[in-house]
Amino acid sequence: MTYLCSDFNIYLSSSIFSRFMSLKRFNAIDIIHNRFDISLPDSSPEKRQISSFYGENVFNDDTMRKYLPESAYFSVKAAIQTGTNLTKEVAGVVAETMKKWAMDKGATHYAHWFQPLTGKTAEKHDSFFTITSEGKAIEEFGSKELAQQEPDGSSFPGGGLRSTFEARGYTSWDPSSPAFILEVGNGKTLCIPTIFVTYSGESLDYKLPLLKSTSFIEQAALNVCKMFDDTVERISVTLGWEQEYFLIDESFLLARPDLMFTGRTLLGKHSQKGQQLEDHYFGSIPERALNFMRDLETECHKLGIPVRTRHNEVGPAQYELAPMFEEVNIAVDHNQLLMDLMERVAKKHKLAVLLHEKPFDGVNGSGKHNNWSLATNTGKNLLSPGRNPGQDLKFLTFFVNTIRAVKEHADLLRASIASASNDHRLGANEAPPAIISVYVGKALKEVLDFIAQGKESNQIMIKEVLSLLKKTPNLELDNTDRNRTSPFAFTGNKFEIRMVGSSMNCSGPMTIMNTIVGDQLNKFKQEVEQLMATEDKPQDRAIMAILRKYINESLPILFEGDGYSKEWEEEAARRGLNNRKNTPEALYAYKDPKVKELFIRSGVFTEHEQEAHYAVMFENYNLKLDIESKVLADLCKSYILPACYAYQTKIANNIFALKQLDLPSDSFASQSNLLKELSDHINLVASKTGELEEAIHSAHQQPDFETEAKAFCHHVKPLMESIRLSVDYLEGIVEDNLWPLAKYREMMFFR
Ligand code: ADP
Ligand code: MG
Repeated sequence: MTYLCSDFNIYLSSSIFSRFMSLKRFNAIDIIHNRFDISLPDSSPEKRQISSFYGENVFNDDTMRKYLPESAYFSVKAAIQTGTNLTKEVAGVVAETMKKWAMDKGATHYAHWFQPLTGKTAEKHDSFFTITSEGKAIEEFGSKELAQQEPDGSSFPGGGLRSTFEARGYTSWDPSSPAFILEVGNGKTLCIPTIFVTYSGESLDYKLPLLKSTSFIEQAALNVCKMFDDTVERISVTLGWEQEYFLIDESFLLARPDLMFTGRTLLGKHSQKGQQLEDHYFGSIPERALNFMRDLETECHKLGIPVRTRHNEVGPAQYELAPMFEEVNIAVDHNQLLMDLMERVAKKHKLAVLLHEKPFDGVNGSGKHNNWSLATNTGKNLLSPGRNPGQDLKFLTFFVNTIRAVKEHADLLRASIASASNDHRLGANEAPPAIISVYVGKALKEVLDFIAQGKESNQIMIKEVLSLLKKTPNLELDNTDRNRTSPFAFTGNKFEIRMVGSSMNCSGPMTIMNTIVGDQLNKFKQEVEQLMATEDKPQDRAIMAILRKYINESLPILFEGDGYSKEWEEEAARRGLNNRKNTPEALYAYKDPKVKELFIRSGVFTEHEQEAHYAVMFENYNLKLDIESKVLADLCKSYILPACYAYQTKIANNIFALKQLDLPSDSFASQSNLLKELSDHINLVASKTGELEEAIHSAHQQPDFETEAKAFCHHVKPLMESIRLSVDYLEGIVEDNLWPLAKYREMMFFR
């Protein structure tokens, strides 16, 4: 089981907490005090050089070359590069080889590994072992088992794509992502990356749209690239993600039902900044966290995930991990796999990883920057100005087209990163705002302004632009000029999409990036060719004319200032940029006819799939808020209020006793004031919890998922926030010994 029970399969009822044995706050603290030495089983690879075990659990190119007959090997390679299917015979040879390799390594089971729209990965394990019709026990795994499986689809969201009588979903092998062996406890399972589709092939997952959008942009980018360089044969999309997360002792997870069920603290008073630093546990954080990181790194390396770790100091107990960039499909799989590994490895260390975007109120949230670029088969980065930026217009073409695409589809990009949990982070003054703007840095902004203001795109102007580009400081090394408040920034040789949430599947925003930029590149090529034909312009002048038009059209979205400031919100509104602050509002972008046509034109989503994915995003939102609000109501009723009543009684008894002594009333004035304060907040919590339960009920009564989401967003959420205000206040005045939930300062500093 995974730690973050934001899974939607949880059975929710008023007895939600009876499903697990909760740990009491002081037991948790005791346990932690006694964790002097977490000695781990010696996993020997750590002592070897990384290169000697890197990728040892992956059925990668080297393994295939070694195990497969030559002809089968080349068929697989060709299928990966062209995206075509393998013949049944070749699939049979691959399956047989894969089985042998996996069994040699001790695997007993295999699983189709896929990425349903819940955001987590799923796998259904089957044994290699089977009994033949003659009653003989054998290990079997053929082309059929490799190519397709039928997991119980009905438990994954399908947004209505599967009617109840056709509840089946199928997983189908994605040969472009290598199979791998997952070590769980003492068992080993061969995992086969797959797409998850309906009977008629409609996508029920993140992977298929990503693969479609990738081949769409690769073709579009290749066509544009060939305008400059005829030798390029293939383009690929590259992604380098940066994963942020929190690490706490696992006993606190068990002591906080809200963390356990929703991944975040629904209640909790944040400590003063200074106090956090003074805490005496602070010094011991790095060692335990670093042990975890080292172990995690080893597991990642065995699976061919090229990570390098680093310690991030923004929030206490918050860290970041980033790999080298890879082809987008592989990078996404690796990130999904990493999130899974993190939870497994943490468990070994008696730690819990919090991947939620905002586990602690008032403390920096977690994101997952997505660094996106395009590379040629010759190893050239198309967004790198390179050593000779003055040589041709290629860099400028890809650079400007990306910006133009983001200008055109900013709302769609915003929608692609919308989720209940990311809503807590965006615009919260420590994360990118919900307004999409593009930061390019001073030097490139000057180049763009120069082109925009240029009167004519003649040969002289092109020369000037190219020499201006040549003079810009080395962009790849120029890290000083970085604006951290921008949601979308050019960082020297790639665009960095900073709005992505830490718990998300990167596929969502990556699919949108690929689709919008691919479409924009197609349009660009058409417009240039048209201009060349109608005005008889040479290619570079036509290109410059079109780029100049695009830059002028994109000016409103280019912003170099402070994205967190109030002034920017106002300025953005004047520029006509949208500020969609919550998920239901953001998701409407998918309803825009312009967006619908884009998906059809690019072939990334059919109309039917669009509707289903739209519905699932709303369902995810509604389910998350449903769980959170119910957990909060239960917490108030069974944890917070009983503790407060106990303290209230204690103070009342105290006043009563003093009164018996016939003391003047001002001698127990502070107790009386406290009692009044306590009673006021207790009454507020009790009555608002009642209102909350009614609001949840009424949200469920709404006729459709859109109005339900609005009800959650505009009625349920504000109530949750106002309950929290009172509870957090109570936390500050109720006797510490009586407070039932682990406090922020305890959770964030561990030994
Ligand atoms: P930051 O300063 O934002 O923490 P770094 O420069 O350390 O960033 O690296 C950020 C990420 O950019 C890394 O994960 C790296 O893999 C990724 N990256 C570098 N070059 C590319 C590229 N061409 N395409 C995609 N990602 C890239
Ligand atoms: Mg970054």
